[in-house]
Amino acid sequence: MSCIQQVSRNLIKNGLKINPNLVKHSSSASSVGGYNFALNDTQKEFQDLARKFTREEIIPVAAEYDRTGKYPFDILKKAWSLGLTNSHIPEEYGGMGMGIFDGCVIAEEIAYGCTGIKTALEGSGLGQTPVLVAGNPEQKKKYLGRLIEEPLVAAYAVTEPGAGSDVNGLKTRAEKKGDEWILNGQKMWITNGGVANWYFVLARTNPDPKAPASKAFTGFIVEREWPGVNPGRKEINMGQRASDTRGITFEDVRIPKENVLIGEGAGFKIAMATFDSTRPPVAAGATGLAQRCLDEATKYSLERKTFGVPIAKHQAVAFLLADMAIGVETARLAWMKSAWEVDNGIKNTLAASVAKCYASDVANKCATDAVQIFGGNGFNSEYPVEKLMRDAKIYQIYEGTSQIQRMIISRVIIDKAKESA
Ligand SMILES: Cc1cc2nc3c(=O)[nH]c(=O)nc-3n(C[C@H](O)[C@H](O)[C@H](O)COP(=O)(O)OP(=O)(O)OC[C@H]3O[C@@H](n4cnc5c(N)ncnc54)[C@H](O)[C@@H]3O)c2cc1C
Repeated sequence: MSCIQQVSRNLIKNGLKINPNLVKHSSSASSVGGYNFALNDTQKEFQDLARKFTREEIIPVAAEYDRTGKYPFDILKKAWSLGLTNSHIPEEYGGMGMGIFDGCVIAEEIAYGCTGIKTALEGSGLGQTPVLVAGNPEQKKKYLGRLIEEPLVAAYAVTEPGAGSDVNGLKTRAEKKGDEWILNGQKMWITNGGVANWYFVLARTNPDPKAPASKAFTGFIVEREWPGVNPGRKEINMGQRASDTRGITFEDVRIPKENVLIGEGAGFKIAMATFDSTRPPVAAGATGLAQRCLDEATKYSLERKTFGVPIAKHQAVAFLLADMAIGVETARLAWMKSAWEVDNGIKNTLAASVAKCYASDVANKCATDAVQIFGGNGFNSEYPVEKLMRDAKIYQIYEGTSQIQRMIISRVIIDKAKESA
């Protein structure tokens, strides 16, 4: 049974119908030329499925996963069996070959329910993307195919205790010995660090500290079960607690030469190119969180009364809701444009950074304002918005901080201005 048939069967089982023939055409790549703000039929079906899944499987348990910090394996397995994960893996490797835009539609829905659970699912997409953009057919078949056959996840291991924004400062080293590379070093803050089946690892392979970043690093696929791979303890974070974040130590890990992506020295470019595909889904996640803040705050403002009227009747509260709605709408448009660009082969570094930075700020503003609208109740864990505020913060930090996004955006516009001068 093909993957599409499997998805179709699962959809029908869950009360939703899908035309498998549509899946092939689901990527927004078909919408080049002219503005189009409508989802196609397949995208709508996946949105409905993800929405139903979120309402039934995620929202009821989100607070519990947040409280315990338990990894949401049960939810991951169900999402995997429904085709809500790995949608972007090409059909020749068993996936559905859907676009980044399509994945973002699903990501926004899942994030509405819990961004901790969404990050647990999305972290795998981040780990897979270097293989998607730079892997050879054998690497893709082996490592992406594995994630289709079983509900396993991948991870992206770049950040270290001493270097996050400044990737050039990485200390993890790999040395060539015969047909193998020997990996030593330490990574930090790795999403899915303790649960991944394999990692994309960026390591310095040119010992010359003056070597340019574009030549100094190599990207490797490293399996979790190889000797010398040691994930640390699960970190207790402010929010998104269902997500598994860990440090990982590599001690004399032997990597076969077949697991080098592209070749020696190509790692930095692969690691950076990855973000053009992964920042749109992060922005979509932040938008989902912002939408949830708006919905929760609207509902509460109609129920809660002060001075004899629902607080929604006070213009100061209603305008907070209006500003939240402005943010949600525009953040959604920003992720849509950045995803549409990458699906259509348009260089989207600027749009991806705009979307990631803007949606992250909108999520944080919406979460703060939702807590404000809830008053004292907003500060308490019995109500949903306290979690939303804790969960929102990481959007301004991971996959490049908001300062780094502004650096990228300013660099692109300054370069363009110089070119046209
Ligand atoms: C929950 C979580 C999950 C994560 N998941 C992953 C993952 O899966 N894989 C992975 O590789 N990494 C992951 N990270 C790491 C994350 O990407 C980094 O934390 C982030 O890039 C920032 O790096 P840093 O923490 O070293 O901060 P630093 O780089 O030390 O920055 C500290 C502060 O200085 C600012 N700053 C730094 N340089 C500049 C500059 N030039 N101009 C202006 N301001 C600047 C930053 O914006 C920030 O505010 C995760 C982090 C967290 C907390």
